[in-house]
Formats: sequence, structure tokens, C-alpha cells
Amino acid sequence: MNDAAATPKSPSPSAKSGKSMTIGVILAERVYAGLLVDHALQGKLHSSPPESIKMDADDDNSLVEMPTDSVIHAICELVTEMAKGHEGLIGAVGIALPGLIRQGVVEEAPNLPQLKGARVQELLTAGLVHRGIHAQVSIVNDADAMAAGLASLHGKLDSFIRVWTIGTGIGFGIYPFTEGVWENGHSVVTLDDKENYCGCGGRGHLEGIMGHRAMRLRFLDMEPEEVFEAANRAKPDPRCLDFKKLWHKSLAAATATSIHQHGAGRFFLTGYNVRFLDLNMLKDYLHQMIKMSPLQGYSLEIVNDEVTTRVVGAAVTAEQAVGR
Ligand SMILES: [Zn+2]
Repeated sequence: MNDAAATPKSPSPSAKSGKSMTIGVILAERVYAGLLVDHALQGKLHSSPPESIKMDADDDNSLVEMPTDSVIHAICELVTEMAKGHEGLIGAVGIALPGLIRQGVVEEAPNLPQLKGARVQELLTAGLVHRGIHAQVSIVNDADAMAAGLASLHGKLDSFIRVWTIGTGIGFGIYPFTEGVWENGHSVVTLDDKENYCGCGGRGHLEGIMGHRAMRLRFLDMEPEEVFEAANRAKPDPRCLDFKKLWHKSLAAATATSIHQHGAGRFFLTGYNVRFLDLNMLKDYLHQMIKMSPLQGYSLEIVNDEVTTRVVGAAVTAEQAVGR
């Protein structure tokens, strides 16, 4: 990561003169979109398929099955729906995707593999022009969208924010937007040769210890919920307690590395598995790992993983990208 503390770009002159209208889109179990006017979310999010269509647990990854063309089509249709009536006023559209994004191209997307190599920015721009929307389209990593959304909702668009998303994989997002790569979910946190559960195939990675998928591979006979339940009992299961410690130590190690490289600051923790987090245990390990006093001014805060935060973040990032 290069100059992470760079100040965010201010909105373009055209955005300043009139009302700035932006659309944010995220890909979760559905495609969600929201319209922002002057940075504030207007009304409810729309989704594809719409909320009225119930999805069962097996549909969690319905987007994984969808060919790239269909994903692009679904996004274009949803953006057109959101823009209805003010097509000409939409200055920017931001799409947050899980994966490594560079210059509008998805270079790696372990959770949506069909998108690997797709020139998503180009395809969406063309699709939207075809529908009368001439907005600047930006593709952002979803963990960075989360960071931008938190910065916006907490009124901290001028500060440096890092976010861990602890779920199926481990996401790491930063705000403000910077060119570069920060796959900190794949930080090497152990030199143990047996640590090879990461979805990317790399050895010793944070996600290989903390990711939901990796935990299921490690404990073939227990679900992650059962592992933490057994670790938190009055008489803990030793194997589960050891794992709980490893889980927290790994997160502390990756966080400490980030602090040693880029300074202390504010960290948010989110994702569906923050329920396993013992903040005191994490702080205790961090305290053992960071001893230089100028680096001890960090803070940790748990926040809910809201779809709206990501949508706002995708929109804010797209708006800041106009004219960049
Ligand atoms: Zn990895």
C-alpha cells in the first residue's frame, strides 16, 4: 500500500455546482443499489431479485452461478430503475465487488470466480450508456466500500480508517481510496507448515485461521459456533480454547503489522463472525505485540455489517473518483 494517509480528493467542480446524485451498488446474496443525493441515502435500497422474492439458505451464493453477462445485466437494470426520472443528473455509479480490482478490471475474485478477468467497468459503462445514463462508473473492492461507508456515516471523511470484515473470508478495507493492493486478509501470521486452510492456497494466512470456510475445514466434526461455544464454557475444551487463542492472536498479529507499517489509528471490526470476537483478548495480544509508544494510540470498534453502509461507501468512492 502506498501513501495511505493521503487526503481524499474533493468532489469535482461539476458535483459542487449542482445537486450531486450518485448510485452505489453492492453484490451480496442479491444485488443491492441505493441513490444518494448530496451524500445522503434517499429512501430504501432496491435489490435484484427484489426483497419480495424469498431466498432460502441455499440461495446464499446465487450470484456465483450467474454468468458474468447476467451479473452485468442485473446491475444495469437495477441502476436504471434507481435513476428513473433523473438519468441525466447521475454523475457517478460505484460498484463494490469482493475481489482484487485494478483499473476497473477484476483481477481476482475467489468468491465470484466467473468475474475473474472481466472488464466490469467497461461493460457497465457501455450497458448504462445504452440505457441513457452517462455516469462515470467506478469499481471498488467491497472491503474498501465498507471503510468509505463507515467514514461517511461516522462523519469522518477526512480521516484514515481501516476495517476488518470477518466472515467467509477476511476482508481488509481502507479509506481514503488509494491505488495499490492491500490483501491483509492474506497476511502471513504463522510459519507453521500445517497452516494451509486459506481459500487462496497460500500457507500461514490470516484467512486460513479466521475465515469461516477455513474453520470448517479445520474442525471437520464441529461447526465454528460449536468450537467457540466449547472454548467459552466454564470448563473449556482444550483444543477449542487453543483455537480461540490462535484466532485472536492471528488477528492481533495482522493488525499489529498494519500498525507497524502505517501507524496507529482507528480500526473497525465487522462481518458476521465478529460474534466470536473477545475484544479484551484481542487487546491483550495487541498490547503484547506493539510496544513502541508512538504506535499505541490505536482504537478498535465493533460495528454491524449493514448492507446500507456498503452501498453508501460504493457511492462515496465513486463520487470521489470523478475527475481523478
Ligand atoms: Zn490466503
